[in-house]
Amino acid sequence: MAYYPRLIVNLSSIKHNAKLIRNFLASHGISTIAVTKGTTSHPKIVGAISSQGIKYIGDSRILNIKKAKQRYPHLSYVLLRLPMLSEIEDVVRFVDISLNSELEVIKALGQASKRYGVIHKVILMVDVGDRREGILPDDFLGFVKKAKEIDGVKIVGVGANFACFGGVLPDEKNLSLLSELSQDAENILGYPLEFISGGSTSSIHLVAHGKIPKKINNLRVGTGILLGIDDIRDIEIEGAKKDTFYLEAQIIELKEKPSMPFGEIAKDAFGNVPHFEDKGIRKRAILGIGKQDVILSSLKPIDEKVEIIGGSSDHMILDVTASDVNYKIGDIIRFRVAYTAMLYLFNSSYVVKKFIEEVGSE
Ligand SMILES: *Cc1c(COP(=O)(O)O)cnc(C)c1O
Repeated sequence: MAYYPRLIVNLSSIKHNAKLIRNFLASHGISTIAVTKGTTSHPKIVGAISSQGIKYIGDSRILNIKKAKQRYPHLSYVLLRLPMLSEIEDVVRFVDISLNSELEVIKALGQASKRYGVIHKVILMVDVGDRREGILPDDFLGFVKKAKEIDGVKIVGVGANFACFGGVLPDEKNLSLLSELSQDAENILGYPLEFISGGSTSSIHLVAHGKIPKKINNLRVGTGILLGIDDIRDIEIEGAKKDTFYLEAQIIELKEKPSMPFGEIAKDAFGNVPHFEDKGIRKRAILGIGKQDVILSSLKPIDEKVEIIGGSSDHMILDVTASDVNYKIGDIIRFRVAYTAMLYLFNSSYVVKKFIEEVGSE
């Protein structure tokens, strides 16, 4: 008997997307760091993606990288979140390249590297407008001069982030600033940078339209490979497959119930005061999955006549009145999965991950 809830992972489609995006970017002189943090860098995902010629794997969590590295020691791992001072030792031991914006942290990386007899590689992040991490452009050259003097680390790149905090899209202007700064950095360092990293999935659109400055030679791509879309711009990636994941959950109660709660209303399980519209008696299904496992707003029932009306930690409540399907107790309801749902589902140990692969796909 199958266990539910379960996340079905179509490895063939993920491989397809990895190959498509890797080859497309390579044809424009751009290397790919595959970002697998949305899947806790599950070994099956890392294995599928790396089988398509991608050798850099990016994750924001050191624990995920440690786990993936055990299984695939030959790949290079990039730590996407700035290192915490409390994890410096692990960073130099398990990570090949980290993104950085603080001299104090780079000094600590250098000292730890010397203790372990390694050279840790660093990509300097520049804040060209999104206002999450990064050195401000005016401070950048002074920063590079100081960072160059730190033993035990090597500056191998510069990068910028977009659409993470400020919602700022990558464009010709902010990427030109990044490429100018990378030229200045190369002049100071005296060698070419391996990574001039111009953002994530949302930069693919610029490459496709010839709007990416020539110096940009790397992108860090998560969503595009995992979901086959550019969810920031809300556009498709031509040729990519979107059937990479779906969720299956089981009906544990199915009853006709009044849509209005009965009794004095205080708060729901998450401390919010709920509001309801009286739609009369509705046919409702409860599923054995809840907010502990997934963000409900990031799911879409495949049966479009089913509506998610809410949930608690361990329950999801559906209105199935309009559906053409005559659901029964024990039936399975399927959902499409957006990025946040994917992230939560991979992080929930209560959700079974079932990997499928079409025979004959390489
Ligand atoms: C998550 C992340 C990415 C990947 O973004 P996608 O939109 O999923 O392609 C790239 N860079 C950094 C620094 C990230 O944290």
